[in-house]
Amino acid sequence: MIKAIKGTKDIFYDEIPKWKLLENIVRSVMEKFHYSEIRTPVFEETSLFSRSIGTDTDIVSKEMYTFTDRSGISLTLKPEMTASVMRAVIEHSLNKKFNLNKLYYISPMFRQERPQAGRLRQFHQFGAEAVGSRSPLLDAEMIIIAYNILKKLGLKNLIIKINSLGVPSSRETYKKELRKYLTPKYEQLSPESQKRFENNILRILDSKNEIDQQIIAGAPILLDQLDENSLIHFEKVKKILDDLKIPYKIDPKLVRGLDYYTNTTFEISSSSVGAQSALVGGGRYDLLVEQLGGKSTPGVGFAAGIERILLACQNENLFDFSPNPIDLYVIVLEKQLSPTAFKFAAQFRLKGLITEIDYLDRSVKAQMRDANRLNAKYVLMIGGEEFKRGNVVLKNMSTSEQKEVNFSRIENIISLLQNKSF
Ligand code: AMP
Repeated sequence: MIKAIKGTKDIFYDEIPKWKLLENIVRSVMEKFHYSEIRTPVFEETSLFSRSIGTDTDIVSKEMYTFTDRSGISLTLKPEMTASVMRAVIEHSLNKKFNLNKLYYISPMFRQERPQAGRLRQFHQFGAEAVGSRSPLLDAEMIIIAYNILKKLGLKNLIIKINSLGVPSSRETYKKELRKYLTPKYEQLSPESQKRFENNILRILDSKNEIDQQIIAGAPILLDQLDENSLIHFEKVKKILDDLKIPYKIDPKLVRGLDYYTNTTFEISSSSVGAQSALVGGGRYDLLVEQLGGKSTPGVGFAAGIERILLACQNENLFDFSPNPIDLYVIVLEKQLSPTAFKFAAQFRLKGLITEIDYLDRSVKAQMRDANRLNAKYVLMIGGEEFKRGNVVLKNMSTSEQKEVNFSRIENIISLLQNKSF
């Protein structure tokens, strides 16, 4: 039997209301902050991601779904959205048309990671990008938007961590210091961190390995090396969050996986999910557009993992959906009336009533059972003597009251049901 690819998921029935709830909250919050939706293709030229995310990152070095199409072009399923949004901004000259572009998205992403709870190969993110301003207001806005969405879902056990990576020059000085500190300890580092020592030394700070963490505890701190402007910027971001009483912790080890960050980085995690506790990650990327060949344009953004957020909601028992009842079930008492039932149902449906009929040639008793299973508010029975008289029988399922009504004017039936006047 053909099965879904490992690390991918089918989403249906009971899961759908959760996704819709989350998506509705995302859209409503984003639109209040006046972000406009952007939808980009699922695949892009591979070089877009290698140039922006950086070849030394986990994503580019081992996680991308890359393939060559029939014309020999190397394509990659998008592993994250920032690069695609920036490509679109440059390609359509949006940064020339508008001084500031505030965009949001909800989209699938693809990374070939080892699947586990909260880590998939096709997963979904929502996120925002604000392109065109260096204002610390926007750094804070990203945190506020993401935090608001999570709070609106009802999540409680949230932790916001923020840090600043400064500008590349101070980061380079810091990297040298870190290298100096770690060199005598190289042999004790985990194999993963030894690899990072060579090609992405900052990421050692991210290591979850216990011995690495002990070593890192004594390492010099990047925040201590920030240049004046980055420090001022960071102070402003913190002040805005303080004023709005957004709780956060400063985590000088928060470096995040991608190469393109400058200044602010942040992460929102939840203690309600297991090892994969990061729900949201984001930060400022003032050099990215330039790196992709556009005119120098600052930007800031975040991405949030939908599956992980839903897992956190599940673990905090936030979901209690009972299936939506249907308005009406049309039952046929005689099989030959099935097309009539179908015609009636079509009219009810087009007038806005959620209507179901039997498609399986079931007995009257089985149709009634089905109506009960679907929590139908009303049942309409077609057939028998009543039908010969030009009438149908309506039954209110909560009171069990029945009423014979003429079906020549279907509007009468609809208004009876819509006004719940019986
Ligand atoms: P990143 O784009 O790596 O900064 O990730 C941002 C957010 O996306 C993370 O905090 C997770 O919530 C989510 N995420 C990243 N990778 C995965 C994955 N493989 N499976 C599920 N969610 C993910």
